[in-house]
Amino acid sequence: MSDLADIVADLRARVRYYASLTDLGLPPRPATMAPVDEPAASIGEAASDAAAGLQGVRDRVGDCQRCKLAGGRRNIVFGQGNPSARLMFVGEAPGAEEDAQGLAFVGRAGQLLTDIIEKGLKIPRRDVFIANVLMCRPPENRNPEPDEIIACQPFLEQKIDLIRPKVLVGLGKFGAQWLLKTAEPISRLRGRVGDYKGIRVVATYHPAFLLRTPSAKKEVWEDMKVVLSLLAE
Ligand code: SF4
Repeated sequence: MSDLADIVADLRARVRYYASLTDLGLPPRPATMAPVDEPAASIGEAASDAAAGLQGVRDRVGDCQRCKLAGGRRNIVFGQGNPSARLMFVGEAPGAEEDAQGLAFVGRAGQLLTDIIEKGLKIPRRDVFIANVLMCRPPENRNPEPDEIIACQPFLEQKIDLIRPKVLVGLGKFGAQWLLKTAEPISRLRGRVGDYKGIRVVATYHPAFLLRTPSAKKEVWEDMKVVLSLLAE
């Protein structure tokens, strides 16, 4: 009975999340979300290795014009790291420095994330994969909008399907909510282990938030200890 209650609660959370992304309050159907040429599953099967598969995704992204952010970006920030990473981070969107360089998490928040990975987790940053919910910078670093998240979603799904990390970390509200398909606040999502297509998910605060609120580093370290224990299983 409690399993059924959990399933119903999970379904309700997913419906609320998708309702928060759509005017209609209906889940977006992958087939109609964006004109991506191939579904993620067939890409995963066709790719003989993750690196080639990721290059294929990048090729399909091309000079993407699938949402309104295309007009203001300087570079598409595809994400970078080890295509066979056991640990993958999903953040929100590129900032100014990321937009300028075309690389994820290279500004001040990126340096802090590097410290979390290398000094905290003791993992070389090149061994993880880092991506964002959006690949283009929102103007003035505003929050991602629902139509943008939906338009970019198939590409992130494909990256995760190809990398198949052991653990996913959702950085901040947008990364965590996207992975867990819920509209719950990050303060409630962190501190427990979630699931994305059979991959364990840990939610934690975004490094940009940590720059403004250093006292939250304690909670992030607690979350990273959970990550380490999951990686060790
Ligand atoms: S944010 Fe994503 S969907 Fe929108 S233009 Fe950039 S790559 Fe395309």
